[in-house]
Amino acid sequence: MTDCLFCRIIAGEIPSQCVYEDEHVFAFRDIAPQAPVHILVVPKEHITSSADLDESNSHLAGKCFEAIAKLVVSEDLTRGYRVVTNSGPDGGQTVLHLHFHLLAGKGLSEQLA
Ligand code: 5GP
Ligand code: ZN
Repeated sequence: MTDCLFCRIIAGEIPSQCVYEDEHVFAFRDIAPQAPVHILVVPKEHITSSADLDESNSHLAGKCFEAIAKLVVSEDLTRGYRVVTNSGPDGGQTVLHLHFHLLAGKGLSEQLA
């Protein structure tokens, strides 16, 4: 039993609105959406943050972006979208399992920080 929230969501121990899943990636709707479309795209393998990517696991970040390209089609995001990953306390990361926020569905703010 892990105490990582996203590992538990991936395992189905905590319910989520899954929108995409494959061997390496799980994607589900954010519980507190900050845009009309707000999806979290996560590697199934536990990686704490983007600071923990290295030669052994960086292909999983690529797999997340392959999933994002599929979500662009399935969620009809051809007008555009934004991908954000928060890392560490100053980056605003609250869940310590690498995730990519996929935000879309309106003209997003030009402000990044
Ligand atoms: P962070 O702040 O770490 O970049 O993003 C964590 C995200 O996870 C937040 O946008 C938050 O709303 C979302 N979140 C936290 N708990 C849950 C949950 O139990 N289910 C889902 N679907 N999203 C969650
Ligand atoms: Zn985890």
